[in-house]
Amino acid sequence: MDKVVIENLSLKYSDGTESLFNINLRIQANKITALIGPSGGGKSTFLRVLNRLNDLADVAEVSGRVLIDDVNILDPELDVIELRRKVGIVFSRPLPLPLSIYQNISYGLEVAGEKRRSVLDEAVERALHLAELWDEVHDRLNDPAAALSGGQQQRLCLARTLALKPEIIMLDEPTSALDPVSTLKIETSLLELKKEYTIIIAPHNTQQAGRVADMLAFFLQGELIEYGPVEEIYTRPKDSRTQDYITGKFG
Ligand code: ADP
Repeated sequence: MDKVVIENLSLKYSDGTESLFNINLRIQANKITALIGPSGGGKSTFLRVLNRLNDLADVAEVSGRVLIDDVNILDPELDVIELRRKVGIVFSRPLPLPLSIYQNISYGLEVAGEKRRSVLDEAVERALHLAELWDEVHDRLNDPAAALSGGQQQRLCLARTLALKPEIIMLDEPTSALDPVSTLKIETSLLELKKEYTIIIAPHNTQQAGRVADMLAFFLQGELIEYGPVEEIYTRPKDSRTQDYITGKFG
Protein backbone atom coordinates (compact mmCIF):
# COMPACT_ATOMS: atom_id res chain seq x y z
CA MET A 1 0.00 0.00 0.00
CA ASP A 2 1.22 3.52 -0.79
CA LYS A 3 1.33 5.52 2.41
CA VAL A 4 2.85 8.68 0.96
CA VAL A 5 2.46 9.80 -2.64
CA ILE A 6 4.63 12.67 -3.80
CA GLU A 7 3.67 14.41 -7.02
CA ASN A 8 5.79 17.01 -8.80
CA LEU A 9 7.31 18.32 -5.60
CA SER A 10 9.67 21.27 -6.02
CA LEU A 11 11.14 23.53 -3.36
CA LYS A 12 13.10 26.74 -3.40
CA TYR A 13 14.76 28.34 -0.36
CA SER A 14 14.50 32.09 0.25
CA ASP A 15 18.13 32.61 -0.72
CA GLY A 16 17.27 31.28 -4.19
CA THR A 17 18.67 27.74 -3.73
CA GLU A 18 16.47 25.30 -5.60
CA SER A 19 16.65 22.15 -3.52
CA LEU A 20 14.03 19.82 -4.96
CA PHE A 21 13.08 19.49 -8.60
CA ASN A 22 9.86 17.84 -9.59
CA ILE A 23 10.07 14.81 -7.28
CA ASN A 24 7.63 11.95 -7.92
CA LEU A 25 7.71 9.08 -5.46
CA ARG A 26 5.39 6.54 -3.85
CA ILE A 27 6.43 5.43 -0.39
CA GLN A 28 5.03 2.12 0.74
CA ALA A 29 3.64 1.26 4.15
CA ASN A 30 5.51 -1.28 6.31
CA LYS A 31 8.71 -0.84 4.37
CA ILE A 32 11.91 1.01 5.11
CA THR A 33 12.62 3.53 2.38
CA ALA A 34 16.14 4.93 2.40
CA LEU A 35 17.01 8.24 0.77
CA ILE A 36 20.60 8.04 -0.41
CA GLY A 37 22.94 10.34 -2.26
CA PRO A 38 25.74 12.80 -1.59
CA SER A 39 25.39 15.65 0.84
CA GLY A 40 23.39 18.58 -0.50
CA GLY A 41 21.16 16.35 -2.63
CA GLY A 42 17.93 17.39 -0.92
CA LYS A 43 17.31 14.47 1.44
CA SER A 44 16.86 16.56 4.60
CA THR A 45 14.79 19.11 2.74
CA PHE A 46 12.54 16.31 1.49
CA LEU A 47 12.04 14.93 5.02
CA ARG A 48 11.30 18.41 6.33
CA VAL A 49 8.55 18.88 3.75
CA LEU A 50 6.83 15.68 4.90
CA ASN A 51 6.63 17.11 8.39
CA ARG A 52 5.85 20.68 7.20
CA LEU A 53 9.04 21.93 8.88
CA ASN A 54 9.40 23.84 5.64
CA ASP A 55 6.80 26.27 7.01
CA LEU A 56 9.75 27.99 8.61
CA ALA A 57 10.88 31.28 7.17
CA ASP A 58 13.80 30.00 5.11
CA VAL A 59 11.61 28.47 2.41
CA ALA A 60 10.30 30.65 -0.40
CA GLU A 61 8.28 28.32 -2.61
CA VAL A 62 6.93 24.80 -2.47
CA SER A 63 4.88 23.34 -5.29
CA GLY A 64 3.38 19.97 -6.09
CA ARG A 65 1.41 17.63 -3.86
CA VAL A 66 2.31 15.37 -0.95
CA LEU A 67 -0.50 12.97 -0.15
CA ILE A 68 -0.46 11.07 3.10
CA ASP A 69 -3.41 8.67 3.24
CA ASP A 70 -4.85 10.67 0.33
CA VAL A 71 -4.72 14.01 2.16
CA ASN A 72 -2.52 16.72 0.66
CA ILE A 73 -0.39 17.82 3.57
CA LEU A 74 0.76 20.94 1.73
CA ASP A 75 -2.77 22.30 2.03
CA PRO A 76 -2.45 25.56 4.03
CA GLU A 77 -5.59 24.61 5.99
CA LEU A 78 -4.02 21.42 7.29
CA ASP A 79 -3.69 20.90 11.05
CA VAL A 80 0.09 20.82 11.31
CA ILE A 81 0.12 19.68 14.94
CA GLU A 82 -1.94 16.65 13.96
CA LEU A 83 0.39 15.98 11.01
CA ARG A 84 3.45 16.07 13.25
CA ARG A 85 1.83 13.57 15.58
CA LYS A 86 1.25 11.27 12.63
CA VAL A 87 4.69 11.80 11.08
CA GLY A 88 7.44 11.66 13.70
CA ILE A 89 11.01 12.71 13.03
CA VAL A 90 14.31 11.79 14.65
CA PHE A 91 17.26 14.04 13.86
CA SER A 92 20.93 13.18 13.69
CA ARG A 93 21.82 14.80 17.01
CA PRO A 94 19.79 13.58 19.95
CA LEU A 95 18.18 16.46 21.83
CA PRO A 96 16.56 15.09 24.96
CA LEU A 97 14.47 17.49 27.04
CA PRO A 98 16.14 18.56 30.32
CA LEU A 99 13.95 16.10 32.21
CA SER A 100 14.15 12.53 33.45
CA ILE A 101 14.28 9.53 31.14
CA TYR A 102 10.65 8.77 32.01
CA GLN A 103 9.45 12.33 31.50
CA ASN A 104 11.14 12.62 28.14
CA ILE A 105 8.77 9.96 26.90
CA SER A 106 5.65 10.79 28.92
CA TYR A 107 5.87 14.53 28.20
CA GLY A 108 4.24 14.49 24.78
CA LEU A 109 1.39 12.34 26.05
CA GLU A 110 0.87 14.56 29.07
CA VAL A 111 0.77 17.64 26.86
CA ALA A 112 -1.85 15.82 24.78
CA GLY A 113 -3.92 15.47 27.96
CA GLU A 114 -3.09 11.99 29.23
CA LYS A 115 -2.91 12.02 33.05
CA ARG A 116 -3.45 8.41 34.03
CA ARG A 117 -0.27 7.09 35.60
CA SER A 118 -0.91 3.50 34.53
CA VAL A 119 -1.37 4.53 30.89
CA LEU A 120 1.78 6.64 30.98
CA ASP A 121 3.78 3.86 32.65
CA GLU A 122 2.69 1.41 30.01
CA ALA A 123 3.41 3.80 27.14
CA VAL A 124 6.88 4.61 28.48
CA GLU A 125 7.77 0.95 28.87
CA ARG A 126 6.45 0.03 25.44
CA ALA A 127 8.32 2.85 23.71
CA LEU A 128 11.56 2.00 25.48
CA HIS A 129 11.23 -1.65 24.47
CA LEU A 130 10.58 -0.70 20.85
CA ALA A 131 13.62 1.57 20.81
CA GLU A 132 15.82 -1.20 22.27
CA LEU A 133 16.59 0.85 25.37
CA TRP A 134 14.47 -0.70 28.13
CA ASP A 135 17.06 -3.20 29.35
CA GLU A 136 19.59 -0.43 29.90
CA VAL A 137 17.38 2.05 31.75
CA HIS A 138 14.43 0.27 33.38
CA ASP A 139 15.94 0.56 36.86
CA ARG A 140 16.72 4.28 36.60
CA LEU A 141 13.82 5.87 34.81
CA ASN A 142 13.92 8.91 37.09
CA ASP A 143 17.54 9.74 36.32
CA PRO A 144 18.11 12.77 34.11
CA ALA A 145 18.18 11.92 30.41
CA ALA A 146 21.35 13.98 30.14
CA ALA A 147 23.18 11.25 32.09
CA LEU A 148 22.71 8.78 29.23
CA SER A 149 25.36 8.16 26.58
CA GLY A 150 24.86 9.73 23.14
CA GLY A 151 23.70 6.42 21.71
CA GLN A 152 21.22 5.93 24.52
CA GLN A 153 19.97 9.50 24.12
CA GLN A 154 19.30 8.86 20.46
CA ARG A 155 17.29 5.74 21.29
CA LEU A 156 15.45 7.83 23.88
CA CYS A 157 14.56 10.32 21.16
CA LEU A 158 13.29 7.45 19.03
CA ALA A 159 11.25 6.21 22.01
CA ARG A 160 9.85 9.70 22.55
CA THR A 161 8.70 9.79 18.94
CA LEU A 162 7.19 6.30 19.20
CA ALA A 163 5.25 7.13 22.36
CA LEU A 164 3.12 9.54 20.35
CA LYS A 165 2.02 6.62 18.16
CA PRO A 166 2.99 8.06 14.80
CA GLU A 167 2.19 6.19 11.60
CA ILE A 168 5.29 7.33 9.76
CA ILE A 169 8.74 7.58 11.30
CA MET A 170 11.39 9.64 9.57
CA LEU A 171 15.02 9.52 10.61
CA ASP A 172 17.63 11.94 9.30
CA GLU A 173 21.06 10.32 9.68
CA PRO A 174 20.05 8.99 13.09
CA THR A 175 23.30 7.14 13.75
CA SER A 176 25.84 9.58 12.35
CA ALA A 177 27.12 10.47 15.82
CA LEU A 178 26.72 7.02 17.38
CA ASP A 179 28.92 4.13 18.47
CA PRO A 180 28.54 0.80 16.62
CA VAL A 181 26.55 -0.87 19.42
CA SER A 182 23.91 1.85 19.50
CA THR A 183 23.88 1.95 15.71
CA LEU A 184 23.13 -1.76 15.60
CA LYS A 185 20.39 -1.39 18.20
CA ILE A 186 18.70 1.38 16.21
CA GLU A 187 18.91 -0.70 13.04
CA THR A 188 17.47 -3.74 14.87
CA SER A 189 14.69 -1.58 16.21
CA LEU A 190 13.82 -0.24 12.74
CA LEU A 191 13.59 -3.73 11.27
CA GLU A 192 11.09 -4.61 13.99
CA LEU A 193 9.20 -1.31 13.74
CA LYS A 194 8.51 -1.60 10.04
CA LYS A 195 5.94 -4.29 10.76
CA GLU A 196 3.73 -1.56 12.19
CA TYR A 197 5.04 1.68 10.73
CA THR A 198 6.16 3.31 7.52
CA ILE A 199 9.82 4.24 7.87
CA ILE A 200 11.77 6.77 5.85
CA ILE A 201 15.44 7.14 6.62
CA ALA A 202 18.32 9.19 5.31
CA PRO A 203 20.92 6.62 6.37
CA HIS A 204 24.39 7.41 7.60
CA ASN A 205 25.95 5.69 4.56
CA THR A 206 25.13 3.26 1.75
CA GLN A 207 26.18 0.28 3.89
CA GLN A 208 23.48 1.17 6.38
CA ALA A 209 20.98 1.50 3.54
CA GLY A 210 21.96 -2.02 2.45
CA ARG A 211 21.44 -3.38 5.96
CA VAL A 212 18.03 -1.90 6.67
CA ALA A 213 16.27 -0.65 3.56
CA ASP A 214 13.68 -2.33 1.38
CA MET A 215 13.46 0.55 -1.08
CA LEU A 216 16.10 3.05 -2.16
CA ALA A 217 15.62 6.54 -3.55
CA PHE A 218 18.76 8.11 -4.97
CA PHE A 219 18.81 11.91 -4.74
CA LEU A 220 21.36 13.99 -6.60
CA GLN A 221 21.37 17.78 -6.60
CA GLY A 222 17.69 17.99 -5.84
CA GLU A 223 16.57 15.40 -8.36
CA LEU A 224 15.30 11.91 -7.71
CA ILE A 225 17.50 9.95 -10.10
CA GLU A 226 16.30 6.45 -9.36
CA TYR A 227 13.91 4.62 -7.06
CA GLY A 228 13.34 0.91 -6.55
CA PRO A 229 13.91 -2.19 -4.42
CA VAL A 230 17.32 -2.16 -2.77
CA GLU A 231 18.59 -5.34 -4.45
CA GLU A 232 17.65 -4.00 -7.86
CA ILE A 233 19.36 -0.66 -7.33
CA TYR A 234 22.46 -2.34 -5.94
CA THR A 235 22.80 -4.98 -8.62
CA ARG A 236 21.20 -3.44 -11.72
CA PRO A 237 21.01 0.34 -11.43
CA LYS A 238 19.40 1.88 -14.49
CA ASP A 239 21.21 5.21 -14.35
CA SER A 240 24.99 5.47 -14.64
CA ARG A 241 25.02 8.14 -11.91
CA THR A 242 23.42 5.69 -9.48
CA GLN A 243 26.00 3.09 -10.46
CA ASP A 244 28.83 5.56 -9.91
CA TYR A 245 27.48 6.59 -6.52
CA ILE A 246 26.92 3.13 -5.11
CA THR A 247 30.29 1.89 -6.34
CA GLY A 248 31.89 4.84 -4.58
CA LYS A 249 33.08 6.81 -7.61
CA PHE A 250 31.75 9.93 -5.92
CA GLY A 251 30.17 10.65 -2.59
P1 ADP B 1 21.04 16.58 2.01
O1 ADP B 1 20.15 16.28 3.17
O2 ADP B 1 20.90 15.60 0.90
O3 ADP B 1 22.46 16.78 2.42
P2 ADP B 1 19.79 19.20 2.03
O4 ADP B 1 18.35 19.02 1.90
O5 ADP B 1 20.36 19.50 3.38
O6 ADP B 1 20.55 17.96 1.36
O7 ADP B 1 20.26 20.40 1.08
C1 ADP B 1 19.84 20.51 -0.26
C2 ADP B 1 20.26 21.86 -0.79
O8 ADP B 1 19.54 22.90 -0.14
C3 ADP B 1 21.74 22.19 -0.57
O9 ADP B 1 22.17 22.92 -1.68
C4 ADP B 1 21.71 23.05 0.66
O10 ADP B 1 22.81 23.93 0.69
C5 ADP B 1 20.41 23.80 0.48
N1 ADP B 1 19.81 24.21 1.76
C6 ADP B 1 19.48 23.41 2.81
N2 ADP B 1 18.92 24.11 3.80
C7 ADP B 1 18.86 25.40 3.38
C8 ADP B 1 18.39 26.64 3.95
N3 ADP B 1 17.83 26.65 5.16
N4 ADP B 1 18.50 27.76 3.21
C9 ADP B 1 19.07 27.73 1.97
N5 ADP B 1 19.53 26.61 1.36
C10 ADP B 1 19.44 25.46 2.07
